[in-house]
Amino acid sequence: MARLLALAREDPEACAREMGRVCPYCGRVLTPQIVQYELPWGKQPHLSCPDECGCPGERLAALQGDEAAEAARKHAEEETYSAELRAAGLSGSLVRCTFDAFEVRADWPASARCLQTAKAYADALMSGELRGSPHCFLVLAGNIGTGKTHLAAATVRRALDTGWKDCFFRPWGAMLKEIQASWHEPAGPLQRCEDAILREVRMGQLVALDDIDKKRGTPWAKETLFPIIDERVREMRPTILTFNAPLFDENTQLNFFMLEPFVGPATLDRIVGATFAIVDFPGPSYRSGAEFEQEEIEWHRRKDAWT
Ligand SMILES: [Zn+2]
Repeated sequence: MARLLALAREDPEACAREMGRVCPYCGRVLTPQIVQYELPWGKQPHLSCPDECGCPGERLAALQGDEAAEAARKHAEEETYSAELRAAGLSGSLVRCTFDAFEVRADWPASARCLQTAKAYADALMSGELRGSPHCFLVLAGNIGTGKTHLAAATVRRALDTGWKDCFFRPWGAMLKEIQASWHEPAGPLQRCEDAILREVRMGQLVALDDIDKKRGTPWAKETLFPIIDERVREMRPTILTFNAPLFDENTQLNFFMLEPFVGPATLDRIVGATFAIVDFPGPSYRSGAEFEQEEIEWHRRKDAWT
């Protein structure tokens, strides 16, 4: 230290070089100053080197460093959020399904009412108004491609964004397939066991079961659905159900029994007793073009096969 002090007095630049105090951006020597510390036993000389050079290169690097750190933090945050959405079943095109993204259509002005009711349900849930209420089910039914899935997904999304945990959006047909696959595949990272698949839809804080009647209601499918609905009704757990079947019969009367072939009488009874609202979607499809036409043709074919 004494040698460095002596050098600093003699040749500050050489001292700085020896101490490695050179700006890495412009090469300027960061010359040390000798400062005197007041200590109980007298003055003590000390070498003080500036930490910063202040050159443009250094300022730019600091800025980029901040930006990189900020970008990394943002990226990690986004990754966590999309993992949360994926776990809830909101991946692919469902990521875009929010209330704001729902378009009220010129060719079907009544879609505004569908949006309004779904929003009112979400508001009632988020405000806690429906906590402990037996009327905590939302039923969306009607023509395919009219936005039922969108509104069900948007409600789950709103819940997650409000901080709710264990919210799930599950297409019913795909869930049944996953259960069937679990009978043949050992449970692992790619295949959950039946119990795990069912537990989340039984226990989830908010659960949306989509397209319950997309597949014919086999006895096994109905037996699988009943305990889920029964428990959710009993425990007053908010639930959204979507159906493609129209809820209005040929006399344009609201007729819940239109759903009975798909869910069975006992399950239907539970659902009817628990509804907060029933929204019918009689409008024309959102989707257009060949893809939708194909889907519609298949839908009718399946419908014909049942009757
Ligand atoms: Zn510099």
